[in-house]
Amino acid sequence: MTVGRRQVLSGIAASALLLARPALAVTSEEDVRALRLYNPHTDESFRDIYYADGGYLPDALSRLDVFMRDHHSGSVGLMDPGVHDILWRLQNRYLQVYGREVTINIHSAFRTRETNEMLRPEGAAQNSLHMRAKAVDVSVQGLGIYFLADQAPRVGAGGCGIYMRSQFAHLDTGPKRSWTQPLW
Ligand SMILES: [Zn+2]
Repeated sequence: MTVGRRQVLSGIAASALLLARPALAVTSEEDVRALRLYNPHTDESFRDIYYADGGYLPDALSRLDVFMRDHHSGSVGLMDPGVHDILWRLQNRYLQVYGREVTINIHSAFRTRETNEMLRPEGAAQNSLHMRAKAVDVSVQGLGIYFLADQAPRVGAGGCGIYMRSQFAHLDTGPKRSWTQPLW
């Protein structure tokens, strides 16, 4: 019985791997997810639903991939949809606490290896998850870093880095870890 069940499960896992973007099980109140984002480097915005009726919307994900492209090279990566869910949960925290629908600034998302190397002197990690399209650097329009620093570890991110000097947070879907860059 155990072996049979494992075979079924591994079959499911294999099918999931074949899907570029496997849908995740969700509760009913999470059936519609929308994002309000702004990219200060490109002056582009994304304000739309990206998840509805139990699945990610392919057209919205494609537009998010372009929106979160490496603006230095123009290269588009396939963003991990888990990143969008982290941002969505972050927006919800602001809504719950401030009663405000905030816009999140995306300072950096996907990066090519070349761009990441270029940004190493500014603190980019050598094997940054930005290169795997699993990370974003964010701030929240009109609000400072403190609430963001407080909430960032609570929105389901794996990695969470707070950059007090630059006033943004790094969030990713990698392993659980956290760090803070001091103000001075
Ligand atoms: Zn980052």
